[in-house]
Amino acid sequence: MYSLKTTEQVLADLRSRTNGLTTKEVAERLQEYGYNELPTKKKSLLLVFLAQFNNVLVYILFAALALSLLSPLLEGDGSAHSFIDASIILLIIILNAVFGFFQEWKAESAIAMLQSLTAPEARVRRDGLEQIIPARELTVGDIVIVEAGDRISADGRIIQSSHCEINESSLTGESLPQTKITTALSAKKPLADQENMVFAGTLLTGGSAEYIVTAIGTSTEIGKISVLVARTKPPETPLQIRLRTLSYRIGVIVLCVTAVITAIGIWQQKDILEILLIAVSLAVSAVPEGLPAVVTICFALGVKRMVEVNALVRRLDALETLGSVTVICSDKTGTITENAMTVIDSWLYKDFAVGDIALAAASCNRAQLPSLGDPTEIGLLTYAKKVGIERLPIEDELVPFNSIDKYMQTRHGTIVFAKGAVEKIMSLCPDIDTVTVMERNTAFAEQGLRVLAFAQSYENKPLQFIGLLAMQDPPRKSVTEAISTAKTAGIRSIMITGDNAVTAQAIAHKVGISGAVIEGVQLDASTTAELREIVREVSIYARVSPENKLQILHALQDQGEVVAMSGDGVNDAPALKGAHVGIAMGKVGTQVAREAASVVLADDHFATIVKAIAEGRRIYDNIKKFILFLLRTNFSALMFIAVTVAMNLPLPYLPLHILWINLVTDGLPALALSIEKADGDIMKRKPRPMREGLLHKQFISLIGYALLGFAVSFAAYLWMYTQHYDITFIRTFCLTLAICFELLFVHSVRSRQPLLQIGLFSNIWLIVACCIPFVLHLIVLYTPLSSLFSLTPLDVKYWVVLLPLAASGLIISEAQKYFAKAITRLR
Ligand code: ADP
Ligand code: MG
Repeated sequence: MYSLKTTEQVLADLRSRTNGLTTKEVAERLQEYGYNELPTKKKSLLLVFLAQFNNVLVYILFAALALSLLSPLLEGDGSAHSFIDASIILLIIILNAVFGFFQEWKAESAIAMLQSLTAPEARVRRDGLEQIIPARELTVGDIVIVEAGDRISADGRIIQSSHCEINESSLTGESLPQTKITTALSAKKPLADQENMVFAGTLLTGGSAEYIVTAIGTSTEIGKISVLVARTKPPETPLQIRLRTLSYRIGVIVLCVTAVITAIGIWQQKDILEILLIAVSLAVSAVPEGLPAVVTICFALGVKRMVEVNALVRRLDALETLGSVTVICSDKTGTITENAMTVIDSWLYKDFAVGDIALAAASCNRAQLPSLGDPTEIGLLTYAKKVGIERLPIEDELVPFNSIDKYMQTRHGTIVFAKGAVEKIMSLCPDIDTVTVMERNTAFAEQGLRVLAFAQSYENKPLQFIGLLAMQDPPRKSVTEAISTAKTAGIRSIMITGDNAVTAQAIAHKVGISGAVIEGVQLDASTTAELREIVREVSIYARVSPENKLQILHALQDQGEVVAMSGDGVNDAPALKGAHVGIAMGKVGTQVAREAASVVLADDHFATIVKAIAEGRRIYDNIKKFILFLLRTNFSALMFIAVTVAMNLPLPYLPLHILWINLVTDGLPALALSIEKADGDIMKRKPRPMREGLLHKQFISLIGYALLGFAVSFAAYLWMYTQHYDITFIRTFCLTLAICFELLFVHSVRSRQPLLQIGLFSNIWLIVACCIPFVLHLIVLYTPLSSLFSLTPLDVKYWVVLLPLAASGLIISEAQKYFAKAITRLR
């Protein structure tokens, strides 16, 4: 019971000290106690595999399989073709499952990768030095330093506390924050009342503290409750849900068409086997088996690409939503600016000297040189060091910094220092010449400098104003460019900052965000209607509170804007959760902010947000491309079969052939489409409306090219049929034509730009993905396999006719692009 012991006893019990463990001790303890983590539940691989069969598309395939196995029984002779049909269907079902399984496994490792990228960290003191380590490397006896916004990584006994408030609802259900103390308790108490203990998984909502780790991993209180943590599967994205609906609808359509065709067949008094054969072919032709798997791959690849541009995607739906973003609300400090603060000017009040202000700057300060802590404070420490001033240790943090009050105050023996926003510090000093100070403040701020004010008091006397330090925090490279890129893409950039209005406006104008600035207090005083009016006009917000952020967010969302909002602080979590895309800072962001966000910026850079949006647009574009491509292939085949059956003509394809088209032409090219580069105009278009249907606009073209594919094949079929060609030859020709049509047409699907403009070979994978199926088909044609497939080798002279027909789709689609261009130019 560490709660009953004094700090000294606890330190002694755990063989530790306030200076922390030594590296050697840490190594020994890691050996002895293991890592500070809960084991993850392993999913049964078999179950994951079996789950792949639980899908309407697969059901239809199973029905087709059963039909083709049944048909020889009905027929009476063991038809080899039915057997091959059945094997191929089975092969497709299995391939589909293996594919799906592989995907899920890959998705799982992608999530694991994401989790490791966004893994919690902890600030510890070891060998007397503060350092940031992965939280899983914490061990018993470690001294951990936490501040507002941190999650507690292990159970521990508090050894130092400054206004430390902890939300323990994750453990006790109590949602009011608990204030923590460092003294020993006099009696044994339940968890919720152990005021000097902290527990893994709870949240520091205010102040700061130091604790010594008493239990890690499965020995922690939370670990005892949930020894295993299930790795949560990402929820389906809107697109995936829509696709599922689409699959169901296709399934229903297939069933209806099949019913009609079967009825026609019976009416035509065809034999039952043939009718079954037709039903199977239809079912298989219309169902785009490859679709769900390819979409998942596309998302997984997308997550990976996002990591490359420094955006860690925590929730898959962000990949989609990013493409629809119309407004980016960004913090100033650290996102638009470098967050590398350098004091470049100072102004002293009355007869204070540089040494006084430097002492206040260094002492009222929680950072550690060279680079631990708040960048503003690091900048101040650097300044003090340059002036040659040593800091006074903090004895009591009277007021910890928070983004609402915007100042902090500390006690060092008999002296008290305060630093913070100029207005705030002035309001704390009774004897102050407001006009003079504000004049200086404005002069600094107009240059885009961040101004901090300092005050001090001795022996409980009132605070005296010392002066101002002006810090430079230049805009980050390429921010201006990113803002103008966003503008071209129909996306508005809004800057939101806790900094003062003049500074905010100076920086905003520098990077290309123009217009007036408005302060948080004005937002507080506005009605909902006024707020809407404001957010329509104003793009620069200063001295905002986290509450104001939420107001801005809601006012924008009320007007139908799709908002990406960045944030870093503990109080930003509601805005990050509420935004369509919540974006947390990976470097300076608190853990709470990161947990609430759907995207984490590894480099905190504004330009990364814009890059992520471009990437989101590209991913959605490509998904759309291959969905259209797959559906088109299947619709063509469906029409062809339906029409020939209706006209009482022999089947143009056997079920096996249709499966072959699906197997060889669908999967690989669709996959290659998913890694297609972004169209050149991707950031020149307006954002895609959130609710826009998947096939919106493209539906006509989908039907159009499906009709074309059908018409070309059907014309060839009819001609050969009337010339009394052998049906096996006709089928061979039609099948080869269909495959070549697809493999050529897919190149036109790549982009809205003409193929010659983007380069025939600019997606080399697509070339590979087309060559493989083509070669496979040639092998089937020109080897003994052909008779197994009910095909016959094609003579070269037929290729001369076939290839131009096959190229028709590609050529017409390309011509259409030039035509569309010419029309836009005319307008
Ligand atoms: P932002 O991140 O948008 O610049 P902050 O909330 O960090 O806004 O800061 C708002 C204001 O609070 C700053 O303009 C400054 O006056 C004051 N401030 C910022 N950091 C500190 C700090 N560490 N100590 C005291 N005051 C601070
Ligand atoms: Mg800040």
